[in-house]
Amino acid sequence: MENKVWDVAIVGGGLAGYIAANYLAKSNISVVLIEKGKEVGGRARTNNIKGLYFNLGPHALYKKGEAKLILEDLGINLEGKTPKLNGSFVDGKHEFDAPFTPLKLITTKHFNWKERLEFIKILMEIKKTDTNKVKDLTFKQWLEQRINSNNVRSFIVVLGRLATYCHTPEKVSANVIINHLKLVMGGVKYLDGGWQSMIDQLHNKAIASGVSVKKQRNVIKITPNDNDLFQLKLSNDQVILSNEVICTTSPHELNRMLNKRYTEVSEHFHPVCGATLDVALSRLPNANKLLALGLHEPLYYSVHSTFAKLSDHEDGVVLHVFRYFHPDEKIESKQIKLELEQFLDRIQPGWRKYEIASRCLPHLVVNQRVPQIGDEKNLSYIETDIDRLYIAGDWTSSDLILSEAAVSSGKRAAEEILRFRKGEDRIGN
Ligand SMILES: Cc1cc2nc3c(=O)[nH]c(=O)nc-3n(C[C@H](O)[C@H](O)[C@H](O)COP(=O)(O)OP(=O)(O)OC[C@H]3O[C@@H](n4cnc5c(N)ncnc54)[C@H](O)[C@@H]3O)c2cc1C
Repeated sequence: MENKVWDVAIVGGGLAGYIAANYLAKSNISVVLIEKGKEVGGRARTNNIKGLYFNLGPHALYKKGEAKLILEDLGINLEGKTPKLNGSFVDGKHEFDAPFTPLKLITTKHFNWKERLEFIKILMEIKKTDTNKVKDLTFKQWLEQRINSNNVRSFIVVLGRLATYCHTPEKVSANVIINHLKLVMGGVKYLDGGWQSMIDQLHNKAIASGVSVKKQRNVIKITPNDNDLFQLKLSNDQVILSNEVICTTSPHELNRMLNKRYTEVSEHFHPVCGATLDVALSRLPNANKLLALGLHEPLYYSVHSTFAKLSDHEDGVVLHVFRYFHPDEKIESKQIKLELEQFLDRIQPGWRKYEIASRCLPHLVVNQRVPQIGDEKNLSYIETDIDRLYIAGDWTSSDLILSEAAVSSGKRAAEEILRFRKGEDRIGN
């Protein structure tokens, strides 16, 4: 057992953990961050393969989101560019220009005039929607209430999926999807060097402020014990003591570490999953094709290196092909890989001739929680029912998911601890 008693122990070295660590470290309290992986960063990691930077699948940061503001508040540089919207839709054997720019919207043959107007109207309505008023609707119910044309509805479903990775309009809450649609309409940024650039800066700042980072340490048990200290048991039998704990793992992992004390919440939540094919090419066979989305098939293709520096080579190209999963779907890895490759064959025929590197990750957790109606009941506080044990991470906000939730909850957990230390009452989410 370590003799030192830490003020705060943070479990998990992803975005949520590092944001919390950086805010706490500003207040001169002792912080230890424990990460089970060999490398820190969690799902915001980027791998350098042959001088090309692969995020864990396609990653884009909302330009108008809270995450960007919080990262900038911590002094994190977010270099990169906004991808252009001119892409295409793929529908069975057909491919056509996406009606995302005014010109394409006027010229598209996919909408009649009535549908064109309805499409514009709904985009304007999304921007103005008070999402607190749609909390009791699924995204599908909301779409059925607001849009007459099935055709227009299909396009908004694709945009919702693009913004959130959720491929289940009949289950997801309209509140969260519309919040993210608003964000995506404010534009996104692909980051130079991949998302690792954020993690590296957060890590270096945390270390410089005195945070102790312990890698390759798996927390297997968290015990709130009698003398008011938490004991965190690691898989190497080491024990870490702390006054407060912030847990940024999945809800199921949290439940396991607490020996089933958190069952009610974790049984409720299921992850948003998908598969990625990350590809580096020496050139694009078709240089004009930078974005393509399946209209009825849950598929995505985007070239990221056109808008972010993702290669040490002069002309290396990095692109991502992604398949969204429905929560009830049975996934067969080989079949999914084939599906992703076939989609790329279609958009960029002959890509294999220029292949530098590629990898298929057939089962990724994109978000730890499919956002559903009523989630706010289980997520009203960032402190759990165990005193001084706080949660953060992409599943812990009832209104947001993805990095927006991870980053904002990391900050909130740190603030809540600082309030508690000042003797103030806790606040809700
Ligand atoms: C394919 C894909 C695409 C995505 N695209 C986007 C996007 O475009 N925009 C966006 O905003 N977000 C996107 N995301 C989501 C974003 O990456 C995540 O929301 C965010 O990185 C989650 O951060 P986190 O800190 O909550 O969790 P994580 O990054 O998962 O961090 C948790 C950490 O805890 C560690 N850990 C777990 N259990 C233990 C334990 N027992 N002991 C010690 N350590 C432990 C894990 O190893 C991990 O490092 C995407 C994710 C994926 C997978």
